[in-house]
Amino acid sequence: MTDRTPAAQPYLEIRNLWKAFGDFVALRDIDLDIHPGEFVCFLGPSGCGKTTLLRAIAGLDPQSRGTIRQGGKDISTLPASGRDYGIVFQSYALFPNLTVERNIAFGLENTGRPKAEIKARVAELLALVGLPEQGQKYPAQLSGGQQQRIALARAIAISPGLLLLDEPLSALDAKVRVHLRHEIKELQRKLGVTTIMVTHDQEEALSMADRIVVMNHGVIEQVGTPTEIYRHPATLFVADFIGETNHFDAQVQSGRVQMAGLDLAAVTGGHAPGSAVRVAIRPEDILPMASDAPEAENRLAAQVADMEFLGSYWRAHLKVGEVALVANFSMNAVRRFDIRSGAAQLVEIPAERVLVFRGASA
Ligand code: ATP
Repeated sequence: MTDRTPAAQPYLEIRNLWKAFGDFVALRDIDLDIHPGEFVCFLGPSGCGKTTLLRAIAGLDPQSRGTIRQGGKDISTLPASGRDYGIVFQSYALFPNLTVERNIAFGLENTGRPKAEIKARVAELLALVGLPEQGQKYPAQLSGGQQQRIALARAIAISPGLLLLDEPLSALDAKVRVHLRHEIKELQRKLGVTTIMVTHDQEEALSMADRIVVMNHGVIEQVGTPTEIYRHPATLFVADFIGETNHFDAQVQSGRVQMAGLDLAAVTGGHAPGSAVRVAIRPEDILPMASDAPEAENRLAAQVADMEFLGSYWRAHLKVGEVALVANFSMNAVRRFDIRSGAAQLVEIPAERVLVFRGASA
């Protein structure tokens, strides 16, 4: 587990939080700090408890057990209406019978601010989300991406202390999604608003988050920055869910991992000699080498069984003896080493890129 320890008090402190629906435990023993101004993603497969945790934080569906503190103050039993949070859901949840302007103004109208001030604020928000001309339209007259921008403007209208985003992009098509994720991130930075976003999309989490909370079956598997999570996954689940891996059962022997047909140097610290482990190797960590390259660790003579063209790179299906490995090779590497289906190819796997995890039986 990696977690930074900032000097400032966390914005939110979640301690020993559990949530049960009848007999079913959806969240168990969640401990998490959210720091002021950071963008945190809850990431995990469907049903792992991301939305349940977000709803507990929002006060929409309170936890069964545990505490939530905001700025040091216990808010565990405070209803959603008492928390100054802005929320954006997957389904834009705009009022269909209100204009875009009225939708954005909705939360502001309850604050008793003068009409002129609300009008100016709405215009400012429309400009902020890049839709300055659309105020008089109705939601149905806007595209999905535009509606989600309006939902975002509505959520930030009240200058919330915390912005909660529940899969805000998943109903949109791929291009719009990629564009909007960049926009949301920029907006969040500009406003400096502490933000939590739920997503099951690893790329979305990697590209947007300051820190990612990886969840599985109601527990937190790992908390860390995108690079920490990707380069140093704490568990095989994390390694496999975020990115791709070739993985094998293996045994540790003095700085090496041995599996059927492969014997690799690895960083095995923390795993006793003779212990059963799972070994994972990312496709991009298998590096092609020239056949006359000088001797080095973890050099393997592979046979290229098949090559798939994936636009910006090639996916190579390799065989090292009987062991099948998938490797991703850049266009450059394929040209330079003349890598082709049916040919022999020397590859290298740096020892520090051989990821070693506790085995199922260990
Ligand atoms: P998804 O990405 O599919 O939305 P998620 O990680 O957000 O998944 P949750 O919606 O938090 O998952 O659900 C976690 C688990 O709790 C699931 O198994 C779900 O079926 C269960 N669950 C959620 N809400 C309820 C409820 N109101 N009653 C009973 N079970 C529920």
